[in-house]
Parts: sequence; C-alpha cells; structure tokens
Amino acid sequence: MLLVDKATFPREKVCGDGLTPRGVRAIQKMGVDPREPGFVRIDALRTYGTDGVIIDLRWPSLRDFPGIGLVRTRYDFDNLLLERAVKAGARFLQGVEATRPVVDEGWVTGAILGQNGDSEQVKARFVVAADGASSRFAGQAGVRRDETRPLGIAARRYYRTPRPQEPVFESFLNLWDGQGLMPGYGWIFPLGEGLLNVGAGLLNTFRNFKDVSARKVFDVFVRQLPEEWGINEENAAGPLLSGPLPMGMNRRPISVPGMLLVGDAGGIVNPFNGEGIAYAIESGELAAELIVDALARNRPAVTNLYSMLLHERYGRYFHVGRTFVRLIGNPTVMRLSVKYGIPRKTLMRFALRFMANLTDGRDGAFEDKVMHGLLSMASER
Ligand SMILES: Cc1cc2nc3c(=O)[nH]c(=O)nc-3n(C[C@H](O)[C@H](O)[C@H](O)COP(=O)(O)OP(=O)(O)OC[C@H]3O[C@@H](n4cnc5c(N)ncnc54)[C@H](O)[C@@H]3O)c2cc1C
Repeated sequence: MLLVDKATFPREKVCGDGLTPRGVRAIQKMGVDPREPGFVRIDALRTYGTDGVIIDLRWPSLRDFPGIGLVRTRYDFDNLLLERAVKAGARFLQGVEATRPVVDEGWVTGAILGQNGDSEQVKARFVVAADGASSRFAGQAGVRRDETRPLGIAARRYYRTPRPQEPVFESFLNLWDGQGLMPGYGWIFPLGEGLLNVGAGLLNTFRNFKDVSARKVFDVFVRQLPEEWGINEENAAGPLLSGPLPMGMNRRPISVPGMLLVGDAGGIVNPFNGEGIAYAIESGELAAELIVDALARNRPAVTNLYSMLLHERYGRYFHVGRTFVRLIGNPTVMRLSVKYGIPRKTLMRFALRFMANLTDGRDGAFEDKVMHGLLSMASER
C-alpha cells in the first residue's frame, strides 16, 4: 500500500484535538491504547448556556463505547497514526502531492504525484481520497460539494494559562453576536501542562453567514470569557488558524469507480457537534474492508457498495442532523433550546448521546430505544 501526503510529518492540523468516546473507540480498534502517554483523558462534558447556567454530564455508560474522551494535539496524534500505518507495512511518501487521479475508461487507475516540480504517474488497483476538506484531488474526477448539505467554519488557537485543568470538554452554547445567539459553539479543551485548545465554530445556517469569518466568531467567543481565565494575547501559544467543516456527507458522488472518498474529502463530519476524526477513521475502515474484499475475490465492483453502506450507516443520523442545523439557524429556536434545554439534566443526557452519536442501538437502554425510534423515522438520503 502506498500512502502519500503533501505535508512533511509531524505536521500541524487545524482542529480542536478532541476525541469523544466514538473517536476513542475508533483508535482502540486500530490498536492504540488511550492510556499511552501523551493523551489527556476526558470524563465529562461541561456545557455553558445562557443566564449563567452550567451543566456537567459524564459520558454515558454504553456497551459499544468506552466511557472516556481524549485530547491530544493533531501534531502528535496524526504522527502516531502515521507511524502505525508504516509499521503495518504502508510505504509512505511525504512532501508528495497527489495532483490528479488518472482515469482510464471511467475507472480511476492511479494518480499523478508531484514533488519539487517533478511529477510521475503511479498505478493503483484502488485509490482512496483522504485529502481533507478541500479535496481538489477528487474534484478532478467529477466529485462536487452538495450545496444543500451543511457546512461549518471554525477557528482555534492554543493558549498556555495558569487556570487549573479539569478532565472535561468545555462547550459554550452562548455565542452572542449582539443580535442573537449564533448557531455554533465555543470550546476549551485541556491538553495538560497548562496548554489549552480554544476554539469556536459556526454553521452556515447562520443568517449572516456570508459576512462572518471563523476568526470573527472566535473573537466573539474569546471576548466573552472571564478575564481571570487568562485566555488573552499574552498567553497565546501560536497563531489563530481556521478551517472548514464539511458536514453530513456533503460530497457527491462519494465514490467513483476505482476511487473512494473518506473523512473530510467525503464531507463526513457530524453536523451536530463538528466531530470528524471518528468519522474519518470509520469511513477509512469501511473503504479498506471493501478494497481488501474486492482484491481477495478479484471483484473490483465490490467497492461500488461503499456509498450504499455509508448511507446505511450514517444516512438517517445525518438527515436528522441537517434538520437540526436548519432549526438552530433560527435565532429564536436557538435561544429557546439553550434557555430551556440546558438546565434540564435528563434532556441534556439524551442530547449528549444523540449529538455525539453514542448509542447501543435498538437493543440498548431506554434512551437508545428512543434514539433508534427517532432515527427510523428519518430518510437515509
Ligand atoms: C477548527 C476545527 C476544529 C475541529 N475540531 C475537531 C475536534 O475537536 N474533534 C474532531 O473529531 N474533529 C474536529 N474537527 C474536524 C477534523 O479536524 C476533521 O474532520 C478531520 O481532521 C478529518 O480527517 P481527514 O483525514 O479526512 O482530513 P485531514 O485531517 O484534513 O487530513 C488530510 C491530509 O491530506 C493531506 N493532503 C491534502 N491534499 C493533498 C494532496 N493533494 N496530496 C497529498 N496529500 C494531501 C494533508 O496534508 C493532510 O495531511 C475540527 C475541524 C476544524 C477546522
């Protein structure tokens, strides 16, 4: 297997660096032990609403998911995954850009790779496009963004502050732009040793989305934090960086013959919470399973099942997610949900499961059954 990346590792990636239990499960399946040094363990989600309301919720106890979240800089985390891939036998070329797919009679048969102005063509039985949110590579095989599906923007910055760290993800649902609550949230994730990942994101259902940048949303968020937390210019540990969040499988088609799109390249970010790491790993796993099967049986067409299987897995959930982002784009709905929802612990416990897509399915507890019931009413497309 050949793995190429245009960056040289370790490299920075603009991210909140947070893994929910879904992300933790994904890395455990890859053989990564969350107790390894370098990971910071997260036990609960702390949500800040309006009127000073704050609620702490531990992760749900589930059969299919661990009861912990994690934080680790993507600088370290992505390098760890890369080392694993190389150890498992992948040949890795770094600083090499995949400039376009090679298409032969409608089937992707390889890629053009470029480095320092030189280029070469490599042949491949299958190509996996995992080139992130812009995915120019897949675009050249006819893949387009589906404008009807949601998109988020977010910005983050590292800070080093003396504020004591607790094993919680802090999320702030009170981004106030002077006119109303914005459909998005701010976050503070602890990285240990005084380092924090601070960020904010916004959905494109926001009424003034075209006039706002991720940086502006970030400024709105940071300005409203208590001064004594020390999240200020003086304590900044790096520049403010931003990026897009392509959500709800917003790429079409998500595979073309011979090439499968995974992670952000396929637009597979959860519209409820902006989580993308778990979905990138899960879609990568599904693509890998199909490719292995297709090679073992010498039946390339097996990979044509990818789109159907992805829709079967996430279609209904993302469908509800799209409705959710549309609804909270209305400032009144956003205000009422935050005002009346956050103080209700039972409701919030359910919301945490739903929004982080943590469920044991129809055979699980009462909340799982309700979630299953709601999802079965949604469409898969
Ligand atoms: C501000 C922000 C905060 C976020 N916070 C979180 C969070 O806390 N938790 C979470 O789960 N998700 C978060 N996300 C989403 C998450 O970062 C992405 O969903 C996730 O990184 C997707 O992984 P990926 O492998 O598909 O793409 P990426 O992580 O973007 O990796 C793509 C790789 O492809 C390489 N590449 C690109 N083009 C080419 C090319 N042509 N040739 C060769 N290589 C190429 C890049 O160098 C890069 O290494 C956040 C996103 C943003 C923008």
